[in-house]
Amino acid sequence: MAKKSVYKDTLEKNHPGDEEFHQAVHEVYEDIMPTYKRSSAYKTSSILTQLMEPDRILRFRVSWQDDKGSIQVNRGWRVQYSNALGAYKGGLRFHPTVNESILKFLGFEQCFKNALTGLPMGGAKGGSDFDPKEKSEAEILRFCQAFMSELYRYIGPHIDVPAGDINVGAREIGYMQGHYLKLTNRWEGALTGKGETWGGSAGRIEATGYGLIYFLQNMLEAHDGKLSEKKILISGAGNVALHAAEKCLAEDATVLTVSDSGGTLYFKDGLDETTLKKIKKIKLEEYGALKDVKEGSYKKGKSPWDIADADIALPCATQNEIDKDAAKKLVNRGISFLAEGANMPLTADAQQHIISKGIIYGPGKASNAGGVAVSGLERTQNASMAPWTREEVDEKLRSIMADIHDRSVEHIRRSDGIYHYRKGANIYAFTKLADALVAYGIK
Ligand code: NDP
Repeated sequence: MAKKSVYKDTLEKNHPGDEEFHQAVHEVYEDIMPTYKRSSAYKTSSILTQLMEPDRILRFRVSWQDDKGSIQVNRGWRVQYSNALGAYKGGLRFHPTVNESILKFLGFEQCFKNALTGLPMGGAKGGSDFDPKEKSEAEILRFCQAFMSELYRYIGPHIDVPAGDINVGAREIGYMQGHYLKLTNRWEGALTGKGETWGGSAGRIEATGYGLIYFLQNMLEAHDGKLSEKKILISGAGNVALHAAEKCLAEDATVLTVSDSGGTLYFKDGLDETTLKKIKKIKLEEYGALKDVKEGSYKKGKSPWDIADADIALPCATQNEIDKDAAKKLVNRGISFLAEGANMPLTADAQQHIISKGIIYGPGKASNAGGVAVSGLERTQNASMAPWTREEVDEKLRSIMADIHDRSVEHIRRSDGIYHYRKGANIYAFTKLADALVAYGIK
């Protein structure tokens, strides 16, 4: 539990019951409080209060027609959290668990993540409580069009540039981009994550997973380690998880698990490239389930941490997937590094437990920033009308992840021989955001 402090009453008063949002704010504010207290300008500008209030929250009804001809109604949101450092930027998530608290936490995190990339991007997040599971292709198309019929009013290349997130991949971005074109008649970079042949960046799809592994390699090198031959537990079997797995295999590491909402697929001797290709097809192209994969052994209802000992854990599914009990399991499994592919996959007490046991911990706002970084590169390519090659993008991604690593340790010293990346990342990003807000006078 966070201590009673200057900001806590306001947070509780203005955002009652928004647990995920409170969790994200407390984590950051705990780390940045000494930095905040040292600056009279931050206090005069009420930076803590400014940063815990999104610029605006847009909420809209999304009505669409299902295959039986009935009208279905969902809720849609866009949380434009802060454009202090650039046009709003952040993904869209379609999942029945989506609510305002989750989108506010994700928007808040996104501001800090985007600040760490060094690219001019503000923070936002959006989505809907629409559940794409068991929906037909035509229903997904109609929903995406209905969603964009509302969202298009609020976005644009200099205003707000959404991308994908859980259940919003290349297919959904395609449907939304098509409808944006129809509604506005303007070809412009108003969405990222587009297909390579219609304005997308090479390497965007892989960027979050690959970037996670580049960040992990930087963490390992900073602690005299290397990735090859390490045993890795990955959770999730979506965009982030499977591209992280792909890069691990390319770097000769052993991937023991991937998981989805049904259970975990375990590979005692490590996942191989041919099987990974099959899993990618089933999960990313056919929207199927891991239980239908013939290779490996499927453990229904189990998490990776229930199954095998390993050196590294990469949670890549969703927020709060690791609670304190799961964190204890990870410690007992011999993990020495944990880097987050998902946003806030550890509960507050799980994080505390992992850090207190000396596990070197890479927070998502730093380690999974590769996706938004390449989204930033996609915007540059769209604006200049000059696409880059896959190799050029990958080189830039590697270099951005190395810079994020270095920025995350710029304001901290090693203690007990390890870096506290969370604190370093929070202080760096907070300082950038706070200095911009002070410079603006009143925004
Ligand atoms: P996907 O929708 O591609 O994959 C999500 C995966 O997580 C699926 O395997 C899904 O299983 C599993 N999952 C989702 N919810 C749960 C749950 N409650 N319990 C167990 N498994 C679950 O999403 P992404 O890979 O794009 O995103 C994963 C995480 O990474 C999210 O936290 C996202 O915010 C974060 N992220 C994504 C970025 C991106 O570029 N895509 C960028 C930065 C962060 P199933 O298939 O059964 O639903």
